[in-house]
Amino acid sequence: MSERTTLQRKPERAVDDRGAIHAVLDEGLMAHVGLVAGEGGVAHPVVIPMLYARDGDVLYLHGSPASRLLRTAKAGVEVCVTVTLLDALVLARSGLHHSMNYRSVVVMGTATEVTDHETKVAALDRLVEHTIPGRSAQIRPAHDIEVKGTTVLVLPLDQCSMKARAAGPVDDPDDLDEPSWAGLIPVGVAVGEPEPDEGSTGNPVPGHVAFWSRGPGQVNGRAG
Ligand SMILES: Cc1cc2nc3c(=O)[nH]c(=O)nc-3n(C[C@H](O)[C@H](O)[C@H](O)COP(=O)(O)OP(=O)(O)OC[C@H]3O[C@@H](n4cnc5c(N)ncnc54)[C@H](O)[C@@H]3O)c2cc1C
Repeated sequence: MSERTTLQRKPERAVDDRGAIHAVLDEGLMAHVGLVAGEGGVAHPVVIPMLYARDGDVLYLHGSPASRLLRTAKAGVEVCVTVTLLDALVLARSGLHHSMNYRSVVVMGTATEVTDHETKVAALDRLVEHTIPGRSAQIRPAHDIEVKGTTVLVLPLDQCSMKARAAGPVDDPDDLDEPSWAGLIPVGVAVGEPEPDEGSTGNPVPGHVAFWSRGPGQVNGRAG
């Protein structure tokens, strides 16, 4: 926690518990990574969606060495990584008091490149495991040339904040007699039926695929 990661607006929604912060980062699938790209008159903010993974007190990002975002970040430009979990739409009796229930984490800092081969391999495995737990044991290990051809950045979780809302609508007392329906529409990750490619058609679907799930609010669209 630092001055710039201290919530100013609705500070009662701040969550300082490290375990809760880790849980959000572990449940999220995608981060939005922001930085200022370019220099001088062409400098501009940009926010790019990316996969990420947490390992202890660091986050890993990866991608092509050609990625502008990764090249800019590894040159020392500070990044801001945001992970948001939407839990529910909050329907109140007035437009003003409609809201969302959410858990979100913002991490700021300077990412550095992971150059040690073994650490890089472990980070790439973490990225696979973060997205699809149990997957890395089912696939061939990465070739050295694949590891060399991928940029991996590590960002410490030193400067991070979490904000959460988990409540029903908060209506004006005068509105409580209004006839409009009020309450929550829970929102979660929808998971469909796995679709095998040609080479996997007819093969048994492994457990890590069949039972992939994410978060308590998951909406499972698979046939029963
Ligand atoms: C869910 C998700 C996960 C992803 N995970 C990764 C990852 O782990 N690693 C990775 O390297 N890339 C990932 N990508 C792709 C990533 O968003 C970028 O497109 C890619 O990294 C190239 O970044 P760049 O800075 O080099 O883009 P550039 O091509 O240099 O960006 C130039 C401009 O293109 C536009 N642009 C770039 N990316 C996007 C985009 N995704 N959507 C809309 N406009 C865009 C923006 O206007 C940007 O200013 C992911 C995308 C999604 C949606």
